[in-house]
Amino acid sequence: MTIVSHIPAAGGTTPNFTDYDGERARFSWAAVDRELGAAPGGCNIAHYAVDRHLHGPLADHCAFRFVGSGESATGSFVTERLTFAELGSRVRRFTNVLRALGVGKGDRVFVILGRIPEMYIAILGALRNGCVVSPLFSAFGPEPLATRIRLGAGQMLVTTDSLYRRRIASIRSDLPTLRHVLVIGGTDAAPSSDTVDFATAMSQVDDVADITPTSRDDPALLHFTSGTTGTPKGAIHVHGAVATHFATGRYALDLHPTDTFWCTADPGWVTGTSYGVITPLLHGITSVVDPAEFDAERWYRILAEQAVTVWYTAPTAIRMLMKAGPDLARTYAFPRLRFVASVGEPLNPDAVIWGRDVLGHPVHDNWWQTETGGIMIANTPGFDIKPGSMGRPLPGVDACIVAPRRDGDEARDVTVVDASDTEGELALRRGWPSMFRGYLNNDERYRRCFAGDWYLTGDLAKRDEDGYFWFVGRADDVIKSAGHLIGPFEVENVLMQHPAVAEAGVIGVPDETVGDIVKAFVSLSAGWTADDALRRELLAHARTRLGAAVAPKSIDFVDTLPHTRSGKIMRRLLKARELGLPEGDTSTLEAGR
Ligand code: AMP
Repeated sequence: MTIVSHIPAAGGTTPNFTDYDGERARFSWAAVDRELGAAPGGCNIAHYAVDRHLHGPLADHCAFRFVGSGESATGSFVTERLTFAELGSRVRRFTNVLRALGVGKGDRVFVILGRIPEMYIAILGALRNGCVVSPLFSAFGPEPLATRIRLGAGQMLVTTDSLYRRRIASIRSDLPTLRHVLVIGGTDAAPSSDTVDFATAMSQVDDVADITPTSRDDPALLHFTSGTTGTPKGAIHVHGAVATHFATGRYALDLHPTDTFWCTADPGWVTGTSYGVITPLLHGITSVVDPAEFDAERWYRILAEQAVTVWYTAPTAIRMLMKAGPDLARTYAFPRLRFVASVGEPLNPDAVIWGRDVLGHPVHDNWWQTETGGIMIANTPGFDIKPGSMGRPLPGVDACIVAPRRDGDEARDVTVVDASDTEGELALRRGWPSMFRGYLNNDERYRRCFAGDWYLTGDLAKRDEDGYFWFVGRADDVIKSAGHLIGPFEVENVLMQHPAVAEAGVIGVPDETVGDIVKAFVSLSAGWTADDALRRELLAHARTRLGAAVAPKSIDFVDTLPHTRSGKIMRRLLKARELGLPEGDTSTLEAGR
């Protein structure tokens, strides 16, 4: 079944492209570079996102509209607006703050903030200063934050007093590389020797600052992602990624100069940085930012009141709106909305159609991952949607299905599967500009992601005879819950820090709304009793250390966990048993389990 992708809205905007095959044939990354133009000092994302707009009509255009919690006299949300000129001035000041503190090119700046103006200023100012920026999700607990800052050898941290107290104070002594902590509103909870109040620092410098020369291949962003084993992986992205951000804004999000865009993702995840910060600025359009968490009524109100034209969100959010019921939706009208897209997890066909019936536009699913830096496969306004499919590779992206690797295979041995509808691993031809350039301190893991010309994504998928790609599942045990990628190993590790826990195995249990719910199986050390009080204690222990977004929602006590003969926990088997599914190949199972 296909449904119409482009439904014209008020304003009559025509899609950026309608001839899929023609556009792919005409496309070249060199042409995108030419369109973006040369930048002083090389290639810097902040130049293209901010500086280059400041000497023309866009200077006074609104770049960000931050939605507040209060209401104006007319009953609409109060917003704080930042024009491109104001943003530029604050970004240059922040560049000078970094320089005054001796934080320079290549230094790692971690940003742990909610979606407030300082988050956007810090990210862009640090990029402009040639630093490598790593925005981390502020709902992470102290443990995941410490792991990531340590791995990234962060020299500077930008945060708030409240986050410092709740998340950083307890791990501060484990972060030896951190030289400076900039705190919005100041704090008395941190050592005064290295702590600086953000506003004071900004007031002590001026807003005249040259951009630091950077090249296309200089690292710009560090985004952490989770694997099945070991520590999180720090995917390194370069300034040259800007070409992908720009082109995908055009093709996958259909951005036009008059748009008001709302990307609901937090910049602590790659979608929130690539599409919540960089892409809309590259296109010189206004972004709406809501610092609050999901609330169905609030979100409908923002879409309507802020006259959002292009909306980029997540399948979990769409399903939560569906759950809130049609009556709530009917109290609002969205005449300006013209394009809706989602990413991060499978989008069920019902949700695509719900978008058409309730919002007036089908939801356009698209696919990418931290490593790809930008959207790779998408449903665009240029061709019909097959609900349930992720769409087709964008211009400049070649995707194929390869025979899945078996344990022990050399990565180079993969073969491309030509037959339609045959399941295999999704692979992308290497070389698109936002391709990650390494995993921090882990060259071997990076090398294993490639086979000749192909980057192997770790996702299982199929391609149909019309070239549409269909997601099948992950090739590993990583869990996707409410759009957030969670490494079971990180959760197991924290559970095992509790003296009662001998061993833990963590899986995702399918859930209609959030995709997967994190569930732990725990075997106890001698002398502990498996009861509700201990279960509550373990849940609280995990929640305090990991944060609510990552911690398990339920725990089952078991006598023993299934292992392979080499000692690895067989999460696949735990999952099959939990779901009452066939146990599959158990030839590597340790005897007696
Ligand atoms: P992350 O690196 O956190 O952005 O997560 C990337 C992973 O999310 C992918 O490798 C997929 O497993 C999953 N994912 C992203 N987009 C989609 C989609 N449209 N459909 C199904 N899974 C998706």
